[in-house]
Amino acid sequence: MPAKAVILSIGDEILYGQTLDTNSHWISGELDSLGIRVVRKLTIGDTREDILKSLLEAEELADIILITGGLGPTNDDLTKPCLVEYFNTELARNEEVLAHIQNLFDKRGREISEVNKQQADLPANCEAVPNPMGTAPGMLFQKNGKVIVSMPGVPYEMKNMMEETILPRLKKQFVKDGIFHRIIRTIGVPESVLAETIKDWEDSLPDYIKLAYLPTMGSVKLRLTTDNDSESRRAEVQNLIDQVLPSIEKHVFGFDNEEIEEAIGRMLKEKNLTLSVVESCTGGYLSHRITSVPGSSQWFSGGFVPYSNAVKNEQLKVPSEILKEHGAVSEPVVLSLAENVRKELNTDVGVSVSGIAGPGGGSEEKPVGTVWIGYSDRNKTVAKKFQFIRNREINIKFSAIAALNMIRINLDKE
Ligand code: ATP
Repeated sequence: MPAKAVILSIGDEILYGQTLDTNSHWISGELDSLGIRVVRKLTIGDTREDILKSLLEAEELADIILITGGLGPTNDDLTKPCLVEYFNTELARNEEVLAHIQNLFDKRGREISEVNKQQADLPANCEAVPNPMGTAPGMLFQKNGKVIVSMPGVPYEMKNMMEETILPRLKKQFVKDGIFHRIIRTIGVPESVLAETIKDWEDSLPDYIKLAYLPTMGSVKLRLTTDNDSESRRAEVQNLIDQVLPSIEKHVFGFDNEEIEEAIGRMLKEKNLTLSVVESCTGGYLSHRITSVPGSSQWFSGGFVPYSNAVKNEQLKVPSEILKEHGAVSEPVVLSLAENVRKELNTDVGVSVSGIAGPGGGSEEKPVGTVWIGYSDRNKTVAKKFQFIRNREINIKFSAIAALNMIRINLDKE
């Protein structure tokens, strides 16, 4: 039986729609990948009654309670006094935490206030969890084999605490034989098609190796999990992956945590090639994805964001007759853009995107979501049409993902 967890998000701002509860979303994913089952998520405001009631409820349901929010030095942050009351204890000053807060203030050249000093006052029965990113420490309580942790609401402070201290502790205490995951990353193929393709293989998996389909925008992760992190299990999982790969290879861009833009970077680097882009409907989002990878200046030379026909014509040498005859969102235009940007910026590969992101600008012939993507290298220049059907934001994201996938497919053939 896997250990069970409850996530408790505290804060009026979450209830009133001012803050999106990204903390519990992230924590759920992390616990899931450890094999710990999240059985309930509770979102409550900053009130004493709700905090105490939810703690009781959570303790009934789970072995682990992870709380975020309400730890700040202000009066409306009630989590700490409630924990003191819940555990029937009192506050005691933690000198180590005080020294950390003092140090942070010294570094910023600011005077520490009494209110900030009080952040070092913690329930006497808890263990302080270091918070290198901020002043409020986390608090870890042990009670009858259960673990209750209170963390700040600030997402990057919470994540740091979880990664550095909490997750390793939970793994040690609640995940007996360890857990092993391997993820196959696919792109450009719907989950249903993937499921149909690998049905026989999936049916043949032993019951101690679980398969999960984890779809995200434009891509699907296939995650294999086994609740025993031994050499032999790892080898068995790898063997199963080797069996299934040939049937889905053309959709696979990488493994585990590698994102598509990282895979593109890796491929370009391996082949010693450089890339340039022209974005006429993604407005720089494609470049943003490519350059979010550290070291991308090694393979990414730059690009253009030409939204007017004049710029396409004057800067990127797309003949005005082509623009006039076919329109900016067309095969000949993206072919010309991809080839010309490659030559203008002297790169090995050029990619172009031109589309109608919406909500306006569509026609019967070219409805909103019509996107042409061009690819050019020394040996060929090709183009492909995509028909997305969503809103502007999603069309832009899908277009960038499709462009990245088009680079991958064509580089594979290089
Ligand atoms: P602080 O020391 O900043 O007061 P705190 O522990 O008291 O930290 P809160 O005051 O509840 O935390 O929230 C701090 C910040 O973190 C706010 O900007 C809030 O919107 C954000 N935040 C709180 N809870 C969440 C959550 N569940 N998901 C995402 N952001 C959150």
